[in-house]
Amino acid sequence: MTRTPLELFDIDSLLSEEEIAMRDTVRSFVDARLRPGLADWYEEASIPARELTRELGGLGVLGMHLEGYGCAGTSATAYGLACLELEAADSGLRSLVSVQGSLAMYAIHRWGSEEHKDAWLPRMAAGEAIGCFGLTEPDFGSNPAGMRTRAVRDGDAWVLTGTKMWITNGSVADVAVVWAQTDDGIRGFVVPTDSAGFAAPEIKRKMSLRASVTSELVLDGVRLPASAAFPEVRGLRGPLSCLSEARFGIVFGALGAARDCLETAIAYAREREIFDQPLAAYQLTQAKLADMSLELGKGMLLALHLGRLKDAGRLEPDQVSLGKLNNVREAIAIARECRTILGAAGITLEYPIMRHANNLESVLTYEGTSEVHQLVIGRALTGESAFR
Ligand SMILES: Cc1cc2nc3c(=O)[nH]c(=O)nc-3n(C[C@H](O)[C@H](O)[C@H](O)COP(=O)(O)OP(=O)(O)OC[C@H]3O[C@@H](n4cnc5c(N)ncnc54)[C@H](O)[C@@H]3O)c2cc1C
Repeated sequence: MTRTPLELFDIDSLLSEEEIAMRDTVRSFVDARLRPGLADWYEEASIPARELTRELGGLGVLGMHLEGYGCAGTSATAYGLACLELEAADSGLRSLVSVQGSLAMYAIHRWGSEEHKDAWLPRMAAGEAIGCFGLTEPDFGSNPAGMRTRAVRDGDAWVLTGTKMWITNGSVADVAVVWAQTDDGIRGFVVPTDSAGFAAPEIKRKMSLRASVTSELVLDGVRLPASAAFPEVRGLRGPLSCLSEARFGIVFGALGAARDCLETAIAYAREREIFDQPLAAYQLTQAKLADMSLELGKGMLLALHLGRLKDAGRLEPDQVSLGKLNNVREAIAIARECRTILGAAGITLEYPIMRHANNLESVLTYEGTSEVHQLVIGRALTGESAFR
């Protein structure tokens, strides 16, 4: 009898029946609906985003951890498990769901007016409207405080001017949450993407997250009503609160990509005969598989610990950094090691491993780079901020 890495850790004994049922529902959707299309979507760098978003809305995963407005109101841990299953398909599809639920919807849910919430959240939860989140700019990624996008008052209106870069879902979005400098500090704006002066050209020739739409947002004097601004929040506290939500999903999600690589490599090693023996029978292969399984299981225990802290209302952003740094770093190491087990076959789209490895390069960078998370942890340990 063989066991998968996570069965060996008996991870299911740490989950409730509802969590297992929800996870299995997402896993079935992934197998039936996403897996068959993935290699082509990746190769062609084109996904049926609107169709998939509607189906993901029907599945109930968009903004699933939010309360009210058509959202499912699940635990944070359940949301994490859904991210894991989605990223076992592809980090790009998990990104679509993360940006919709944890960045755009969370921002509106946490910081929006009742008018914003009623106008957008039910449609976004159902997958009828797509959201994006514009924080990064061409010259300001790790240091968003320097952003140049500006919103100025003109009578009763706000006028937004500037450029955002690397924005997931940008070209397919119906609504953009855009962060901009104002005379009163950084503020968030709810921008319908059919506003005059708004454009979202897609960024092409990516070698990573090809099954995901990434765009520039160009705001050329976009005129919005006074009510477009989030009423209360000022400064980076607003966007950082949203990023912490999305990072939490990545803590789980990255492990999905790693699990898929590892299960693929184990199956391949058992089938592949080299020097008249299955590759899986060699000690070197088993040492690789054992070490990778340990890292996957340890990452899962860390993710579940952070999930339980979040459900208890005690999770701090520095702790999310622990999970994001470790789990993405280990996932990318697992993907690269699994690729060696497949030899040449590992570089093709016939197997998911190279696709996951390439995707994880983006995951290592977005939502706070691995270096920035090291510096956040370093600050927590020493009281010294080495970045600002
Ligand atoms: C596919 C993809 C999708 C994305 N989606 C979104 C999105 O939806 N919305 C959004 O707003 N943004 C998005 N981003 C942008 C992402 O958040 C940024 O790329 C990220 O914050 C890093 O910024 P940067 O690329 O400008 O790198 P930089 O900030 O220029 O960093 C370059 C290097 O410098 C390092 N560095 C930075 N500061 C320090 C320091 N103090 N000390 C030492 N080293 C340092 C970094 O770790 C990195 O290695 C996305 C990015 C990608 C790749």
